[in-house]
Amino acid sequence: MNSAVSRRLVLGGLATSALISPAAFAQTRARIVVVGGGFGGATGARTAKTLMPSAEVTLIEPSEAYTSCPFSNLVVSGVRRLEDQSFSLSSLGSAGVRHVRARAEDINAQAQTVTLDTGDTLAYDRLILSPGIDLRWGALSGYDLEAEDQMPHAWKAGPQTDLLRRQLEAMEDGGTMVMSVPAAPYRCPPGPYERASLIANYLKRQKPRSKLIVLDAKDDFSKKPLFLEAWAKHYPDHLEWRGAIDDGRVIRVDAGAMELETDFDRLNADVANIIPPQKAAEITDRAGVADQTGWCPIDAVTFESTLQPAIHVIGDAAIAAPMPKSAFSANLQAKVCAIQIARVLSGLAPEPTRLVNTCYSYTTPDQAISIVGAYSNEGGAFRSLAGAGGVSPSDADVSVREAEARQAVDWFAAITRESFG
Ligand code: FAD
Repeated sequence: MNSAVSRRLVLGGLATSALISPAAFAQTRARIVVVGGGFGGATGARTAKTLMPSAEVTLIEPSEAYTSCPFSNLVVSGVRRLEDQSFSLSSLGSAGVRHVRARAEDINAQAQTVTLDTGDTLAYDRLILSPGIDLRWGALSGYDLEAEDQMPHAWKAGPQTDLLRRQLEAMEDGGTMVMSVPAAPYRCPPGPYERASLIANYLKRQKPRSKLIVLDAKDDFSKKPLFLEAWAKHYPDHLEWRGAIDDGRVIRVDAGAMELETDFDRLNADVANIIPPQKAAEITDRAGVADQTGWCPIDAVTFESTLQPAIHVIGDAAIAAPMPKSAFSANLQAKVCAIQIARVLSGLAPEPTRLVNTCYSYTTPDQAISIVGAYSNEGGAFRSLAGAGGVSPSDADVSVREAEARQAVDWFAAITRESFG
């Protein structure tokens, strides 16, 4: 890769190049270990090696290929193939990153080592954790690991996505699908509502006597006015959303009986999609970087854990609000984190940055809406930049929604190329 391309790769989405000191970084020799080969980890490993060619960068990820959650709602609704969600990690090797096909089992923050499920131990000077989320089994009464076969969550893409798709396909016309949405924080704030839109679109086209009922633990959600507008326009007979104030909070499920219970009601479902409460993935507990919330507090400039030195947490696992838990955020946080690590290892002080996020959501297979946020991290805490960002216009012409759907396709192509090569 030539240096101009390298710098563009690193700088995409960043406001300044003054942070990067190629001469200083080129000499930096260090062992950098990254856990998790998703949007955050793959980008972090690639960027660290690009910035510090003399460093030894190792990515620990059990899979050979990554399966993307973004665009997986199109798979659930039958307009995209699951195979198109899979991205090989093999190009990391040509970028100089060593990919170790293993699961990180334990982390000793004092000794600065990672123990793998193969029994091997890796030493690090800096560790980047981007392991994503785990589901809180049992936090919603009745929703344990066994229940995911009857009532899929499909909140980690792969077999669960396929299962939910197949259940939806097998449902008779006239059947009822019920979706349960948790309280924040969770992975991808607008994701449940994009999924609801696309499932309602499928029902309208293929099973016109069927209906989707969305039971929500909250009353407000990302892009709510735009989603409500789209639902009223496209799916008045196929989608019903109940917020917390309308008894929407699910308190118990019975997977055997296909029943969902709220404070005052019981609903039977032919297909149930339970999106359960979540937490940072298990390895963050082992590292001692998750707090009592289940998520990982960090310094917003460097992404270094506030609980353990030399361990940086990025992506969904980190507490980065008001930045959302999105692939866009994980990818950009990975770049910023790698730059700050390069600075520190090269004897330079970390510098505050600006960060952005854009989340596109499909409301039909060829129309989309979006939200943009911009953030500062001065003083080690994230803040939204007043006056920056916004959402798509309401009551917009269909051509605007179609243009955003095309932008979403371009965004997905760009971020997967950048993360996975
Ligand atoms: P992940 O991408 O989950 O990657 C974590 C990786 O770590 C995994 O590969 C896992 O195997 C690995 N891992 C975990 N534990 C270990 C361990 N102990 N050892 C080794 N490896 C480990 N975001 C958007 O920006 N736009 C969208 O349109 C969008 N749509 C979405 C739609 C849906 C339905 C969902 C569920 C999410 C969506 N998201 C979207 C959110 C996005 O998927 C996540 O925010 C993003 O994947 C977070 O990246 P990450 O690197 O933190 O975690």
